[in-house]
Amino acid sequence: MRPDLSPDSELVRRAVEFHGHLGPFLVLGLRAGLLALERLGAAKHELSVVVETEDKPPASCIIDGIQVSTGCTLGRANLQVKWHEGTPKITFKKDSRLLVLKVRDAALKEIVTKIEEGGSEAAAKDVLYKDEKQLFDLSAP
Ligand SMILES: [Zn+2]
Repeated sequence: MRPDLSPDSELVRRAVEFHGHLGPFLVLGLRAGLLALERLGAAKHELSVVVETEDKPPASCIIDGIQVSTGCTLGRANLQVKWHEGTPKITFKKDSRLLVLKVRDAALKEIVTKIEEGGSEAAAKDVLYKDEKQLFDLSAP
């Protein structure tokens, strides 16, 4: 069953407590992690992950969303970060199975526009309710 992802949900509150603010990339990380748990049939703390993203916020905020939703952390050394320019790409691994998620360019553009129009929190709420197919390209190698 998919966890509750309203702005007042426990998961979102824990993410905000950990990260310090509600932003769209934090939510993208939450969504990516939840999707990976579902698709790979994993429980929290069973995955490892490689996150490729820009080395500064807001894009790098995605890392914290992934840490909160999957339990993969820097400290447990099951989360690896590779700084790279452009759209974030996340590779989740459970045993020998991989799931690669790429944030869609269109989703990124929309986030940037929403931040400009209504601020970070409004953009985050938008990402909370968006269809995952609109957010991520799952066919990326
Ligand atoms: Zn942030």
